[in-house]
Amino acid sequence: MRVLGIEGTAWAASAAYFDTETGDVFIDSDPYQPESGGIHPREAAEHMAGALPTVIERALSEADSVDAVAFSRGPGLGPCLRIVASAARALAQSLDVPLVGANHMVAHLEIGRHRSGFSNPVCLNASGANAHVLGYHNGRYQVLGETMDTGVGNALDKFARHLEWSHPGGPKIEERARGGEYIDLPYVVKGMDFSFSGIMSAAKDAVDSSERIEDVCFSLQETVFAMLAEVSERALSLTGSDELVLGGGVGQNARLREMLAEMCEARGASFYAPEPRFLRDNAGMIAVLGATMADAGDILEIDESRVDSNFRPDQVDVTWRGAESV
Ligand code: ATP
Repeated sequence: MRVLGIEGTAWAASAAYFDTETGDVFIDSDPYQPESGGIHPREAAEHMAGALPTVIERALSEADSVDAVAFSRGPGLGPCLRIVASAARALAQSLDVPLVGANHMVAHLEIGRHRSGFSNPVCLNASGANAHVLGYHNGRYQVLGETMDTGVGNALDKFARHLEWSHPGGPKIEERARGGEYIDLPYVVKGMDFSFSGIMSAAKDAVDSSERIEDVCFSLQETVFAMLAEVSERALSLTGSDELVLGGGVGQNARLREMLAEMCEARGASFYAPEPRFLRDNAGMIAVLGATMADAGDILEIDESRVDSNFRPDQVDVTWRGAESV
């Protein structure tokens, strides 16, 4: 099966072509880069409308033929989602192929499962707007733990904005954390959930009261990533799974991957992080999940294809794993 995937939940206008026979995934993306501050929904939507035709054209130029069109239905910014959905509907109709609506967070998980070959992993999604740990049970991805306030990447970005660093802040924090020393910051895990707002305020206060930026960046990463690793470890223990996959843009951080790999090694579990092009928002993961869904007959009628900016992963009926025995 050959699938065209389209992604545009927030900052990445992205299109991809996936051929299940060769396994090749071609991705073309055009990122929205705010001139100042964080992601502005109207500007992001304008970027989406301007950039999508070109990335779609490039993905189609790689395609011998297309058997289905898949798009991100949510979660994400409403104005961006609506543009992506309109493009996907128009393409599916003009190519006369089925339309598939993918949940963006489930796509972050499924690309890790697909690339690792793991059968039943726990997934840590550490992205800009989200932070949660998922496990599969009874036809659904259950949210085993999640943020009680902001997404993990958004929290890092807010701290970076306080330092007047441009968006995205995560890679700049990673860079500046090198050579830092640990200072105490609030560590908040309640049950299986985590909170990032207190630590962000404490980190801002620390730089304002003349702590070294290197030390604050280092401590921020150590503390936030330890929280993510703790909940991931407990999810492995709770589910009895011995496989962990990582998803989301914050997963590009080498220190996070190192901490998760160490935790997994210590408990005899396997860890897999997809390559960076599949971690940050990208249409490749939408095309890959789209192929799996289309293969299971999980397709949308045009008049049922509205977007959902709050589309939670545990709302998805995981039709494509129905035959599995887990
Ligand atoms: P979501 O997938 O929840 O919709 P999103 O649309 O913001 O999130 P992603 O591409 O998954 O997009 O993640 C972007 C986030 O990743 C940003 O907050 C950015 O700062 C963060 N990020 C990127 N690289 C790194 C890094 N090296 N270290 C830490 N964070 C990073």
